[in-house]
Amino acid sequence: MANDLFNSFMTGPDEKGRFGEFGGRFVSETLMPLILRLEAEYERAKTDDDFWAEMHDLWTHYVGRPSPLYYAERLTEHLGGAKVYLKRDELNHTGAHKINNVLGQILLARRMGKQRIIAETGAGQHGVATATVCAKFGLDCVIYMGAHDVERQQPNVFRMRLLGAKVVPVTSGRGTLKDAMNDALRDWVTNVRDTFYCIGTVAGPHPYPAMVRDFQSIIGKEVREQMHAAEGRLPDTLVAAIGGGSNAMGLFYPFLDDKDVEIIGVEAGGKGVDDKMEHCASLTGGRPGVLHGNRTYLLQDDDGQILEGFSISAGLDYPGIGPEHAWLHETKRARYVAITDREALDAFQLCCAKEGIIPALEPSHALAHVMKIAPDLPKDHIICMNMCGRGDKDIYTVAKALGADID
Ligand SMILES: *Cc1c(COP(=O)(O)O)cnc(C)c1O
Repeated sequence: MANDLFNSFMTGPDEKGRFGEFGGRFVSETLMPLILRLEAEYERAKTDDDFWAEMHDLWTHYVGRPSPLYYAERLTEHLGGAKVYLKRDELNHTGAHKINNVLGQILLARRMGKQRIIAETGAGQHGVATATVCAKFGLDCVIYMGAHDVERQQPNVFRMRLLGAKVVPVTSGRGTLKDAMNDALRDWVTNVRDTFYCIGTVAGPHPYPAMVRDFQSIIGKEVREQMHAAEGRLPDTLVAAIGGGSNAMGLFYPFLDDKDVEIIGVEAGGKGVDDKMEHCASLTGGRPGVLHGNRTYLLQDDDGQILEGFSISAGLDYPGIGPEHAWLHETKRARYVAITDREALDAFQLCCAKEGIIPALEPSHALAHVMKIAPDLPKDHIICMNMCGRGDKDIYTVAKALGADID
């Protein structure tokens, strides 16, 4: 392995926020002092027992952690090979893993005395999680959302408003997630004094990728313990879906130094990873560049223009990927594959029918890859897949794709 020299994959990032040649802090001078203050506060919180005690109390009583590790027996029998376990993060409050991270950042904001929280959202899941925790703590909440996404995701827009958030439609650029993130960064610079920017995935300038990973790592830590209780050993293969990469980093990180544990990230292959670029597979079909304050793999055209990407799953259509994934890809510690819309839809339906679990379209991508590999693996091979979200939000999209009329 390329990185054996360093003996550990868990020491990153370096003091400049770099994972190998990825990550870092590409921000304007006006933003720099804010980022440094955040980093200092996070460094203090990280080693503060009171901070983690409060996190764990909220994870337990507000989010519903630990989420179960579930042996998917009928799915396993159906696939006829490896034993498939699902980490049930879809059972969290608000229906996905996003709230693990939001809680951490908002506790940090409270320590910094910030009263106003801003966030970007694409499909609206991170916006809903942020609005939820802001309501719980009585904080002002402003959510930047691409105008195009506001149109497409009305139920989540209404949820955020019910929770007391102000939703700002972003019309710059193409009015999608990338533009919402740019506007949130602009807001932050303008409202330095009272505002905290809560980023929804392992992207952005350092320290966000590492900080969000640390908050999401509760997923992998629980899996280690639960797998020991269930099987008396570690899993052989980990599989997770990747938009920006936060639920995947959360599952993978605690296992990075267990060299016998195979790690697979699943990107959204949309209509297929080819020249037409109708996909969101940043690692499989993109190349390195700089976006939102860090260097990573991006979907871009020959002139370096960022492309929008396409996926049936709104939660996966971020044109970049967290820098730590770019590094794990280059060092070959993790492997990245793409799954098409069609394959994800098949997995979605199989999960409903065999396990009585309606999965979100994002983890349906991960499941589709499990369906590909499990049949050829021996029966004592253990796969653990992160079921990072539930599918209630996706039933209209799925109905449309399957030609059912439910309006
Ligand atoms: C937001 C979201 C994703 C994509 O985000 P990551 O940072 O890659 O985890 C995946 N699944 C669900 C259910 C989501 O809500």
